[in-house]
Amino acid sequence: MRRFRRRHPRIAFAIRSFVIFSATFGAAYGFVTGSRSENSGYDPNAFAVGASFLFALACLGLATLSMRLRFVNKRLRTLAAHNETLIDRNWELKEAEERARSLFEQQGDLIVLRDQQGRIIFANEAYCALAGQARGALVGTRFDFDVLEQGDSARESSGTRVHDQKIATPLGPRWIAWREGLVRLDAGEPAQLQSVGRDVTDRTESERALSDARDRADAASRAKSRFLAMASHEIRNPLNGIIGMSALLLDTILTPEQATYARAVKSSGEALTALIEELLDYSKIEAGKLDLEQRPFTLPTLIEEITELLAPRAQAKNLEIAAYVDECLPLELIGDAARLRQVLLNLAGNAIKFTAHGGVALIVEPGIWPNEISFLVRDTGIGIAPEAQARIFREFEQADEAVARTYGGTGLGLAISERIVKRMGGRIALQSEPGKGSTFEVAIPLAPSQGSAGHAALPTPDLNGKSILLVAGGIEASLIARRLERWGGQTCLVADAAVAEALLPERAWHAVLIDRALGPVVADHLAEAARAHATQRLVLLTPSSRHDKISPSFTGYLVKPLRTASLAARLAQAPEIASPDLAPEPTTETRTLAKTTTGLSVLVAEDNEINALLMRSLLTKLGHRLVIAVHGEAALESWLAASSAGTPYDLVLMDIQMPQLDGIAATRRIRAHETGTGGRHTPILALTANTLVEDRYACFEAGMDGFLIKPLDREKLDEALAGLAAARHLAV
Ligand code: ADP
Repeated sequence: MRRFRRRHPRIAFAIRSFVIFSATFGAAYGFVTGSRSENSGYDPNAFAVGASFLFALACLGLATLSMRLRFVNKRLRTLAAHNETLIDRNWELKEAEERARSLFEQQGDLIVLRDQQGRIIFANEAYCALAGQARGALVGTRFDFDVLEQGDSARESSGTRVHDQKIATPLGPRWIAWREGLVRLDAGEPAQLQSVGRDVTDRTESERALSDARDRADAASRAKSRFLAMASHEIRNPLNGIIGMSALLLDTILTPEQATYARAVKSSGEALTALIEELLDYSKIEAGKLDLEQRPFTLPTLIEEITELLAPRAQAKNLEIAAYVDECLPLELIGDAARLRQVLLNLAGNAIKFTAHGGVALIVEPGIWPNEISFLVRDTGIGIAPEAQARIFREFEQADEAVARTYGGTGLGLAISERIVKRMGGRIALQSEPGKGSTFEVAIPLAPSQGSAGHAALPTPDLNGKSILLVAGGIEASLIARRLERWGGQTCLVADAAVAEALLPERAWHAVLIDRALGPVVADHLAEAARAHATQRLVLLTPSSRHDKISPSFTGYLVKPLRTASLAARLAQAPEIASPDLAPEPTTETRTLAKTTTGLSVLVAEDNEINALLMRSLLTKLGHRLVIAVHGEAALESWLAASSAGTPYDLVLMDIQMPQLDGIAATRRIRAHETGTGGRHTPILALTANTLVEDRYACFEAGMDGFLIKPLDREKLDEALAGLAAARHLAV
């Protein structure tokens, strides 16, 4: 009905008018006809009442209608407002959707949505462009790019799969980093696979180029180290001959001039060896091959060895060299003693080199951090200008040209030392004033050895209440005074002999220590004067003056640089038993290596004629018998012959690089034969100029027992052989 009314308003109007008219007419006609009839009983009063009642009813109806109309109007207004808000919201949503869509479209990243069957539901502009197809052609298909290379794949905790792919596109191969995950847009709907891919071709290619470059650099660096090792090996071999032969030459009767030349040849050879060692070290550090050992070592011994090693050099320049290790430091530490020695030898060596007057002190104290140890190398030398102080730690840098010309050197020592110290977790610092001297400080964390608790602490004589007069000047004197005071002694340090003599009657001295550097006559005179006042009268000597005639007024002597243990032993000695004949003191000089008592029979496998000659001279001089084999094959034959004849060799010295059969292979064959026949184990020492760790491993793997590095000197050889001879003696 309503629809008919809306569609045909005129017909509806005509029908409505007709119905109203008929009803009105019908009612009026009925009323008039009714009121005219005889028996109608028309009463105008009742009519008026009825009419007013009807009117009131009509009014009520009208009022109700008007109220409803107002209510409906109000609702209409609310609805209209609501409608407007909805229209606005709708508009905003449309705008947001438009923005999102354009953002989506303008993304450089590829975005694609697929249903569970892998059919594309949506693909953004970038995806379509890379695929080279219109969106309409892609949607609904199972289109995917051809994969040329698949990278690693990983899954994130959110479930997203992340992987790289190299894909073929009409624009050429591209690397895409994909992030793929399932999304469920509507609760009831199946999940869709959403893939977002970023083109990382440039990044991947530069990464690959970088990694290739790094590999090439690594290979080049390895080749460089290898080359250096090879070159140094080749240089060491002739150097071995030069140093060894000049040492042998120096043992023969030479005119003074010839001896000077031979010494020059030897020292040049040694300088060259040191340079090669520095270069090798440097390249090893550069290649990151510096492996540090963690072994226990005794700190005071290390420091004393360093000072004793450098003492001849210092004393030849009339310099003092002295060391002081603080008593409160642990005796045994864990670390790489060899590398630490290298650093300290370099610093102290420089200190001697750049000092003309005064001396060099090596002081070891606790550092500022727990377990840190500070090594101070102090000199009274030329010093270093402030602007050069940072520079000299760089490789091939020296403080200044003139200095470099005067003193020589390569400028590598400090660079190597600094790298070693850093690798040990420490730091190196320098304080210097030109003309006054320099102090290098190396601070390294070094843990005390677990076993050190069981070791005897440094010897400490009880000097409490005892007076000691020290007549000496210079760095060493002040360090000795410091030590004596630590031991409780009342030390009086005087640099002037006359003042000392005047002080002698002042009290009863437990000991008087007189440095012979004050002058032999002065020292002897002072000792004579001290007879009545001091129970112990000790003279301080340099190794070179220890054979001089010393006044019998002295009760003993100590060789500079002083060893703490020797000083302690001397002072602890009861004066009555102090031997007047100056009992020998262990020093650098007296520490000659033990001579082997019985000769060994040694097989030397060496292809280099000069080196073979050198070995022959050295071994014969040391009282051993030797057979020389010129290559590995000959060595093996000789060894087999000797073994089967029942006179096996006591030792084989095996060169590594030899023609026909190299040292490693020959050793393997010897070891295999020994195991096969259950024969005696012949010690085999490698004789090589190769110092790379891997070469050492190769030797040990082949079954060698040790190493002798060329250039070989008599001491090294003697030391190795002495150990063997002693072992053989024990075995017999
Ligand atoms: P080298 O001693 O072979 O030249 P280093 O790296 O050991 O190389 O030393 C670099 C430079 O630092 C030296 O050439 C020298 O100029 C300066 N130098 C090092 N130690 C001292 C020192 N104790 N006193 C003065 N100058 C020093």
